[in-house]
Amino acid sequence: MAALMSTYAPLPVSFTHGAGAELFTASGESYLDGVSGIAVTNLGHAHPKVTRALTEQAARLVHCSNLFHISAQERAAQKLISLAGMERVFFCNSGAEANEAALKLARLHGAAKSIDQPKTVVLEHAFHGRTLATLSATGNRKIQAGFEPLVSGFVRAPRNDSSALEAIAANSTDVVAVLLEPVQGEGGVFPLDQEYLVRIAELCKENDWLLMFDEVQSGNGRTGSYFYYQQSGVVPDVLTTAKALGNGVPIGACMARGPAARLFAPGHHGTTYGGNPLASAAASAVLDTLEAEGLPARAPVLRSELIDSFQATLRHTDIVKDIRGAGLMIGIELQEPCAELPAAALEKNILINVTAGQTVRLLPPLVMQQSQAAQLGESLAHTIDRWLDARYEVTAGGQQCVTS
Ligand code: PLP
Repeated sequence: MAALMSTYAPLPVSFTHGAGAELFTASGESYLDGVSGIAVTNLGHAHPKVTRALTEQAARLVHCSNLFHISAQERAAQKLISLAGMERVFFCNSGAEANEAALKLARLHGAAKSIDQPKTVVLEHAFHGRTLATLSATGNRKIQAGFEPLVSGFVRAPRNDSSALEAIAANSTDVVAVLLEPVQGEGGVFPLDQEYLVRIAELCKENDWLLMFDEVQSGNGRTGSYFYYQQSGVVPDVLTTAKALGNGVPIGACMARGPAARLFAPGHHGTTYGGNPLASAAASAVLDTLEAEGLPARAPVLRSELIDSFQATLRHTDIVKDIRGAGLMIGIELQEPCAELPAAALEKNILINVTAGQTVRLLPPLVMQQSQAAQLGESLAHTIDRWLDARYEVTAGGQQCVTS
């Protein structure tokens, strides 16, 4: 499409409507959604409670700006901080914006301590967004290339390496915060080690650094709890989220507790749209539904169903290097790059994603039926087997040789 700037290379399929875990083309062909719009539609497509909240709110008031009290926003804020175990929230429009707000909190925390050149520790393989500050925080050169000079004030550390962080603590006096995804998403679906998170929390406390978790992807029920940190037992000072918070209506949130929750004062930060009545109504409907329908608890059940059926069906089992993640944030790392698989999966009418080169990433909705989870696992196994069969040809002598 020549009118669009070339930022994506979309697959050759387009959808006109959806219902639950299914998406439909104009001709009525159905696809099982294993991606949820990249961890966004956790409640599935066209969830009636979200649709009702949106239509009712749209008929009353879509936008009025943060110059005025917004009761829908105050309601969403109360619900979100109570489920997230935080004290205050700033609403914005995306994950990158939520992380920008967190990074500004870190700078203010440093300014309050008269640190002129404050630094935030970030991890290798991290992904925090595409704005200049968040791509600078991201641990992937491909995302940064061409956008230099990067925003300064970041110190990079290897993931799951406590001694590297201890060395930073021993040698730097200008660190003010650590920003990390407790389950790295784009970096290959890697939950960080529990002991590592505990050690980071200790170092943050000892050194008065803010512990900031990016749960833009892992939040809102996806991993089996409202936020992944609630399973890890390590409580951050700052918590960001977005994606599934509005089930597709753009909304992000930067939450905080303790002194970090009181760093922003009027004039420090702002947004025209953030937390407007329509987006807030969506967020409240999502959070109410997650709670009322007990949806986070479905994540581990559906995970097992999906992985069991995948493993029971796959013939080329030695292609799988690792299966990891948490709840319905599933990474299946293969022995080799597999960028072609999402296109190949369309032939089996399933939607999947590949991240970090050779990891199939599955992010199906929490409302998926168990039979659909099993079908997704089975169809993924058939897709991988067919992809490998096409690349290897069994010779008459029974040996295998690469044909492409
Ligand atoms: N942080 C994480 C962990 C993400 O996975 C993403 C998006 O994939 C972002 C931040 C950026 O979110 P957005 O695309 O809404 O700006």
